[in-house]
Amino acid sequence: MSGPFPPLIDRFGRVHQSLRISVTDACNIRCRYCMPEQVAGFLPQHRLLSFEHITKVVTALAGSSIRKLRITGGEPLMRPQLPQLVSQLRSIPEIEKIAMTTNGMMLEESASSLVEAGLSHFNISLDTLQEETFHRLTRREGVHRVLAGIEGAIRTKASVRLNALIMRDINFDDILPLVEFALERGLVLRFIEFMPLDADRQWSRQQVVSGAELRALLQQRFGSIEPITRTESSQPSTDYRIANQLGVVGFIDPVSSPFCEQCDRLRLTADGKFRNCLFGREEWDVGRLCRENASVAQIHTLALDCVRSKHASHGISDSQFQQPERAMYQIGG
Ligand code: SAM
Ligand code: SF4
Repeated sequence: MSGPFPPLIDRFGRVHQSLRISVTDACNIRCRYCMPEQVAGFLPQHRLLSFEHITKVVTALAGSSIRKLRITGGEPLMRPQLPQLVSQLRSIPEIEKIAMTTNGMMLEESASSLVEAGLSHFNISLDTLQEETFHRLTRREGVHRVLAGIEGAIRTKASVRLNALIMRDINFDDILPLVEFALERGLVLRFIEFMPLDADRQWSRQQVVSGAELRALLQQRFGSIEPITRTESSQPSTDYRIANQLGVVGFIDPVSSPFCEQCDRLRLTADGKFRNCLFGREEWDVGRLCRENASVAQIHTLALDCVRSKHASHGISDSQFQQPERAMYQIGG
């Protein structure tokens, strides 16, 4: 860590290397596990952190320990001119990786310009292959657009991974077809457990399909699945290779098996707030600092305050757990 500012280390010795940047809270679909059916309103343009300010924040944190960026939302591709932001971020020398998480609906037309601008990794959310289930899950139509987005991303030669979230009553039957879809294309598919971050506050343990349950299903279907040794300790997924198959299936199990001890993430919301955890209840207003023309040193100090306030774990299973006020699409997943 050779920048001018000290690394972002919290009270538990966790060095923060990843920044998740939400560029909008708007979205073109309405996943039940994330958004309400009716949204009162998305952030108006003037409240979104500008590209200039996002770049300044990243410059400040890259002068410390941040090396990896993930652009997210809401649906990040709803923000116009995103390749311009990617190329601004790409020009910060310390940044080693720029990734994006997207629902893929608008990816077919934008994947190549994003990669040309410097994006190297796409995580595309795919929870079903069936239009009817897609509609039940997202209250919108268009799984074919997601599939076209995946093909468009594959054509760019960037790294492409799929993320799937299973809600027991909605897309349980999609588990094996999704795995087969990924295996046929040699893609990594990761299942992520449903967390209590839905705007409708309908989360219940009964709806969560745990990683262990999914692994048992895959074992039944494929015979043998073998865990792969992690290359990055902060990586939240435990990956498995399926016997005699090309692909890898991973499990992100924040509910049944929290990985907070290895968490190296800081978050920046679309309206310019630092957050140290998805489940945090506090925010640090870096947007205000930017508007007051603060120095990169002041921005770094605010980030350090935020990181030093981080709790040991998210506490989902604590008896006094309270779901955060903001839902996933407002924080940035
Ligand atoms: N709109 C983009 C997308 O869906 O990929 C990016 C933002 S979305 C909030 C990022 C990821 O968060 C998605 O993979 C989605 O499945 C996941 N997600 C949303 N709500 C969740 C929840 N309640 N629990 C676990 N993951 C969730
Ligand atoms: Fe939109 Fe992503 Fe939330 Fe689904 S998970 S509603 S695609 S922000």
